[in-house]
Amino acid sequence: MIRHASMNFVGRFSLFALVIVCTLCARLSANGNNASRYQNGVRNSPDRPLNPKQLSSLLENLRQKSGFREMHFDPQGFLRLGDRSKIDGGSAAARELLIAAVDRAKAIDLENHNRTSQIAFARLAMPVSFTSRESGAQVEVYPVQIDFSDFAHLRGDKKAIEAFDIGFVVLHELGHAALGLRDALVNGQEPGECEEFINQIRRELGVPERQSYAAHTFTRRNLHSQPPSRQAELLFINSLVGGNKNKSFSLNWDAGQVGAVRPGEYKPQTIPQRQQASLAP
Ligand SMILES: [Zn+2]
Repeated sequence: MIRHASMNFVGRFSLFALVIVCTLCARLSANGNNASRYQNGVRNSPDRPLNPKQLSSLLENLRQKSGFREMHFDPQGFLRLGDRSKIDGGSAAARELLIAAVDRAKAIDLENHNRTSQIAFARLAMPVSFTSRESGAQVEVYPVQIDFSDFAHLRGDKKAIEAFDIGFVVLHELGHAALGLRDALVNGQEPGECEEFINQIRRELGVPERQSYAAHTFTRRNLHSQPPSRQAELLFINSLVGGNKNKSFSLNWDAGQVGAVRPGEYKPQTIPQRQQASLAP
């Protein structure tokens, strides 16, 4: 396990933190008359769109992870995979997930929630129902809310930062929305069903695997008169056979700056799938 000597932390607690709440339970009503609103698939939200730089960064990341060379966002903002036989490396599990997200009968919006204290990295929010006043068409939209600014707060081993980038976090939310995977936890110390799938992608890409769903939190006392800060930590382990097998990599962030780390909201696995809150993106 790698620790950082520069961290002077005191009062370390064995708390497991709620990093994210991914809720699928509620249903809201809304009206809308834009025809493309009623198409299924993954799209850049028309209401809270990712800016061109964010969209391009996410697209390039997902291209590398999936190997889909022709993947792009079309003029209406929908994610298109292009010719699916044109593959350049990447992970088969990532391709399976993206195909499910793009092809299945669900509408998934990628929303921009930069610098939102309520969202740490990303979360799948409550689905929103739209009904067209003109045609009566209906659609249930699953919003993937993304706070890009949080990724700038990640510190730690380069390999761990690589294993928790925007692509992996968005794929996690797509795992919920498209495949119905859960963050099912027994004791909060395992990755959970959804992260197990994302770990398969990490394995296929040679990236270390996340060891738990919940982040460990502790207090770091700063020098001078500054108040102590709350830090969150996730561990990743290299499962690949070779010299670095079982090597541990640490990922840290300031929970106060990223937000939404709330110890004590752990929900046991007895909650039905569509009413379950989960603990991380
Ligand atoms: Zn989740």
